[in-house]
This record gives sequence, structure tokens and C-alpha cells, in this order.
Amino acid sequence: MALIEDVIDVLFKHKEGLTAREICQALGLEPSRENEVYSAIMRAAKVLRRKGFELVMIPPQCKKCGFSFDKLKVSRCPKCKSEWIEPARFLIRS
Ligand SMILES: [Zn+2]
Repeated sequence: MALIEDVIDVLFKHKEGLTAREICQALGLEPSRENEVYSAIMRAAKVLRRKGFELVMIPPQCKKCGFSFDKLKVSRCPKCKSEWIEPARFLIRS
């Protein structure tokens, strides 16, 4: 539960949005806990909705061809096969 609150807190402080990795860094978590952060983000979205806020996901995008993904986590672009991917960003909107 505490991780969700930390994630919400850090997202409120970074209105421009953060990636899961940046949230890890901001909270001083090991990068290996990125998956935990992803699930905390998903649960945080529900908590925020009840409070009248919206957690917005800017989908991952291929930095080579600009392809925009509809999935949360991707490692490879289906269009150009590049692995140079800009990860999803999350931000809170009221
Ligand atoms: Zn691509």
C-alpha cells in the first residue's frame, strides 16, 4: 500500500510525467523493482479516479520510426524492429 502512496506523491510532484524507471529513481528503489512500480501505478490509477484525478499514460514510442505502442511494456518495435524505445510516461491530471 505504501508504494502506491509514494508513487502518487511523486507523480503529483512531477506534472510533466515520469517513466516507471524515473519513479524508481525518484523513490530510491532498485531498478529491479520496476515491475512492482508498474503494478503500483495501475493500482494508483484506481485510487486517483476515486479522488477525481486521472492517471494518464503516454504510450511507449519507437525513437527510430515514431511508432506509438498500445501496450505498456515493449522491448522491440514491430514496425522497424528497433529496440530504441521511449518508455511509457505517466502523469496525473485533475
Ligand atoms: Zn520503429
